[in-house]
Amino acid sequence: MPTALEVVAEEASACTRCKLASAGRTQVVFGMGNPDADLMFVGEAPGAEEDKQGLPFVGRSGQLLDKVILEEMGLTREHVYIANTVKCRPPGNRDPEPDEIAACNPWLERQLELIKPKVIVTLGNFATKLLLDTKDGITKLRGNSYPFRGAVLIPTFHPAAVLRGGGEPLAQMRADLIRAKKALAQ
Ligand code: URA
Repeated sequence: MPTALEVVAEEASACTRCKLASAGRTQVVFGMGNPDADLMFVGEAPGAEEDKQGLPFVGRSGQLLDKVILEEMGLTREHVYIANTVKCRPPGNRDPEPDEIAACNPWLERQLELIKPKVIVTLGNFATKLLLDTKDGITKLRGNSYPFRGAVLIPTFHPAAVLRGGGEPLAQMRADLIRAKKALAQ
């Protein structure tokens, strides 16, 4: 018997709810990891490598994310669940558009309902603004924990921004993941 999450992933794999379905996606990148995870990461949208492999965060950003999760939390991908705000690659890696984020949101909502993470780490502006329903940016929001539907939401920088920004955002991302580790232990 497929799990409820596998059924949703199968449905999502044929999704045509927004224009990204016909904008050159190779496949829908639903998410990966432990379906019973206490910790879930939510990124932005798949890039070229994710679109090719069908898995989230498998390019350079993902390598950095894996490294920081392991170093600061002692966890690997098998322990956590990783998904994106938008499940299909925007052409040329442009930002996802508001109509695409809105159309895709029910998939993320189903993931949150079924996985029921205790701690959610949002990576960058798109996931953070969507889930916290705010116009404030990541630089203002990070550094704190926010109550989220009985769970805790911890915003941090997107790993691509950390790759561009170097030492200081990296140190801040590390601090955010230490905050997430403490929240998990509570
Ligand atoms: N950036 C994201 O936000 N998500 C991915 O899956 C890859 C890169």
